[in-house]
Amino acid sequence: MPLTVHRCEGCGRFYFEASPACFHCGADLKEAEVAGRGTIYSFTRVHLGSVGAQVPYLLALVEMKGLGRVMGRLSGTGPDSPAIGAEVRFSGFWEKTPMFVMADPAKGNFPEADERASK
Ligand SMILES: [Zn+2]
Repeated sequence: MPLTVHRCEGCGRFYFEASPACFHCGADLKEAEVAGRGTIYSFTRVHLGSVGAQVPYLLALVEMKGLGRVMGRLSGTGPDSPAIGAEVRFSGFWEKTPMFVMADPAKGNFPEADERASK
């Protein structure tokens, strides 16, 4: 499923949220669609979070196709740890933090429940 982002017409930077102008160069932003998929560049398991945070959780740096590297939370890994290079898909936001889900290792595809979460 494609993901709608906002691309600066001046410097080409991407933003998830709309804004009157680019924070870097001040040029206008225009909506753009990217694949919404990528691969895990790096990840860590966070064991100590702010008050009320459910820990542990996985934090991943994802190389998104056509977008660059994006930091976000990772789910759908089951009992196993994720792997560098594993395919993930953007699944929505959690308190403005991008969320990613991993493909089901047994089936080789993404869980259907996450199709609904990404809308
Ligand atoms: Zn710009």
